[in-house]
Amino acid sequence: MSKAKELYYEKLGISREVLAFGEQIVESLRDRFAAIDDTAECNQLKVIQAMQENRVSEACLYGTTGYGYNDIGRDTLEGVYATTFHTESALVRPQIACGTHALAITLAGLLRPGDELLSPVGKPYDTLEEVIGIRPSEGSLAEYGITYRQVELLSDGTFDYEAIQKAIGPKTRMVTIQRSKGYLTRPTFSVAQIGELIAFVKSIKPDVICMVDNCYGEFVETIEPTDVGADIMAGSLIKNPGGGLAPVGGYVVGKEELVNRVAYRLTSPGLGKEVGATLGVNTAFYQGFFLAPTVVAGALKGAIFAANIYEKLGFKVIPNGSESRHDIIQAVEFGKPEAVIAFCKGIQAAAPVDSFVTPEPWDMPGYDSQVIMAAGAFVQGSSIELSADGPIKPPYAVYFQGGLTWEHAKLGILKSLQSLIDERIVTL
Ligand SMILES: *Cc1c(COP(=O)(O)O)cnc(C)c1O
Repeated sequence: MSKAKELYYEKLGISREVLAFGEQIVESLRDRFAAIDDTAECNQLKVIQAMQENRVSEACLYGTTGYGYNDIGRDTLEGVYATTFHTESALVRPQIACGTHALAITLAGLLRPGDELLSPVGKPYDTLEEVIGIRPSEGSLAEYGITYRQVELLSDGTFDYEAIQKAIGPKTRMVTIQRSKGYLTRPTFSVAQIGELIAFVKSIKPDVICMVDNCYGEFVETIEPTDVGADIMAGSLIKNPGGGLAPVGGYVVGKEELVNRVAYRLTSPGLGKEVGATLGVNTAFYQGFFLAPTVVAGALKGAIFAANIYEKLGFKVIPNGSESRHDIIQAVEFGKPEAVIAFCKGIQAAAPVDSFVTPEPWDMPGYDSQVIMAAGAFVQGSSIELSADGPIKPPYAVYFQGGLTWEHAKLGILKSLQSLIDERIVTL
């Protein structure tokens, strides 16, 4: 390692011992990093090809105001998303407030009173419980007479095909499949696994709509759920596809007829995709999507680096150090609250923004325990940027994701380790 690099690590509070430990891990990951770079290269080409095919021009970078009629930047960007994800249509909008909103309008746009929604992969993401009405909530699908059924995964994290077959009935209109584990400890599904599940569902009931929650999954592989049969798929622009530059937004891609119905829910019946000004966000949306394959590669390297560091130190890491990856989330089980807190302090201390603040556990609305969060992001709540959070309850696990660059993710993980060592929780 160069003297200059060592000096800056020292200035940032990383001891020689921690640095040497980290370098040894990086050395052991060369082949995996090369495979990630290869995926990023493929996805970069995919995005550039989509931009060229849709004839993105300088005029696309300007925005509209008011109704946003004939917003060429918006319409062309939706073409770029559709081409990239190999779908007929796309809805990519700053008016979609977050990932939950993208998923909520997809469900509400496609389901009607009397329909049933099925999750064949166990419990969905926390915020979806209120959207569906699993936890009673105002405005939920349940209030509109839409019922819900769930089939748990088998104990090894695979699909319970027998129970899924039984759960599909005459009312089943839609199936929702969450790719990423979110804050659960089940495995994240590969795109191939999702394809098998969709094929199975369609073999029982061909006209059921298969939707995928693709949050945290975009560009991790060279194919996406829409390449293996998903009819519609949604995600957040302050995660992977925004590339860290999108300041807000969400997307929905899929069959044209379905995307149109979602658009009627987002804006208004009759108006659909025709309205929705982009104000000044188009450049950030295009540029973020262009950078997303590389940004996701950096975040993935960070996740694998963290897994291998903490696995070597004897902690349980999910996924483990050598497993293949299908999202950018890494969980580390520390078994004690002090360790979760020290880890998050380290991540915070590595941030480009707010590095000087100390994160503390607090009573976050909607959670049944205190939660600690570390983030020093350019975009509020952006979790494609380096961030970590942990509920203060057993098994005292911390969930870690993001990093706009591999170099920043690496610094964050080294800082977390340094923090655990300084607090005498871990010794090398
Ligand atoms: C983040 C996430 C969501 C919700 O996204 P928000 O932007 O936080 O509303 C939904 N599902 C999964 C799997 C997620 O990771």
